[in-house]
Amino acid sequence: MTSVAEAPPGSSVRLRLLADPAGTRLDTHLTQHGRLPAADPAQVIGMARDAGLTGRGGAGFPLWRKLGAVTATRRPAVVIANGAEGEPASGKDKVLLAYAPNLVLDGLQLVATGAPDAVLYAPGAAHPALARLLDQRRSAGLDRVPVRLVAAPDAFVAGEESAVASAVAGGGAVPADKLVRITEAGTLVQNVETLAHLAMIARYGPGWFRAAGTYDEPGTFLATVSGPVVSPGVVEAGYGVTLGELIAAAGGVTRELSAVLVGGYHGAWVPADPRLPVSRAALTPYGGSPGAGVIMALPVGACGLVETARIAGYLAEQSAGQCGPCVNGLPRLASTLADLAHRRARPGLPAEVERLARLVTGRGACRHPDGTARLIHSAMRAFHADVIAHLNGHCVAEGSHR
Ligand code: SF4
Repeated sequence: MTSVAEAPPGSSVRLRLLADPAGTRLDTHLTQHGRLPAADPAQVIGMARDAGLTGRGGAGFPLWRKLGAVTATRRPAVVIANGAEGEPASGKDKVLLAYAPNLVLDGLQLVATGAPDAVLYAPGAAHPALARLLDQRRSAGLDRVPVRLVAAPDAFVAGEESAVASAVAGGGAVPADKLVRITEAGTLVQNVETLAHLAMIARYGPGWFRAAGTYDEPGTFLATVSGPVVSPGVVEAGYGVTLGELIAAAGGVTRELSAVLVGGYHGAWVPADPRLPVSRAALTPYGGSPGAGVIMALPVGACGLVETARIAGYLAEQSAGQCGPCVNGLPRLASTLADLAHRRARPGLPAEVERLARLVTGRGACRHPDGTARLIHSAMRAFHADVIAHLNGHCVAEGSHR
């Protein structure tokens, strides 16, 4: 998935990072945006704070706080641009690295000031083009901090911060087996989209950045829109854009929708209401958030429980195999949900699904069990009518009796 949607006339979809993307053309990038203004670490923290820039990797943590925490350690920082995108429903970081990699590398330079070197952690398929670009930037004197490439495996948990730090240090791309605050160890891991926004803020200012999005959730974000839409792909829009606008930017629906998964496989199901804003404020009542921008539409006629059971089975297989509640709990949770989804009814099945989801929450060294449980809790709410029907051997989605 590498397509980028155009903004339909009158839509609040707004292309910034992806407006006239230069790809790996350094000359085009410099013509469009000019050289990166110099900024010391205090200035970078200040502009990130004034802009209200939050991480675009999923957690939505304020960038300035993270930068401040790393700066406070006074250790030589390990600085990593995280382009791992193991989430199967997301393609926005791959698109960004193909369409606007210079913005990512500019942002990396901004946060790496004073570090001995910096790392771009990205899928191996992108490395040849990125390596050529890094050579050009070096020749042009753009990168004061040298950048090296590290391959990000295609695994769901390979983008988790402690997994990234481990992979860059030469270990496996798996989360640490105990809770670690990697910023306290002087390591900064930042999603590539966040860095690209920072590079734009450094040029055009926090006020310009805040002209898109909402007061509390400023700026644009990259959304990956998939499901029964005409042109699945990546759309850029300000927070608060409606589901309908994002789907219209992807060409509109090819089938009527019953629900939408927002935020990815660790996200939440919400109603397919085209007026629903995509913002943390609007999605919190559904237990969701924009996360890393995944918008996965489910057509009428497809069963949400079956789809969630498929995702839960995938997530159970993606466990890094280190924590008992994750190793044992997720497969049991997935298989119990599969029994419900495939109408192998037995008394108490929905309660057992909910109980197992509660049981794994907060019990892993990383958030993988929590994210999986969140998805399943949301499915049990969003597809409640299906749950009842399945217990009686029906499926609401299919309107059939088996
Ligand atoms: S919770 Fe799961 S994925 Fe996370 S570290 Fe433990 S075993 Fe690995």
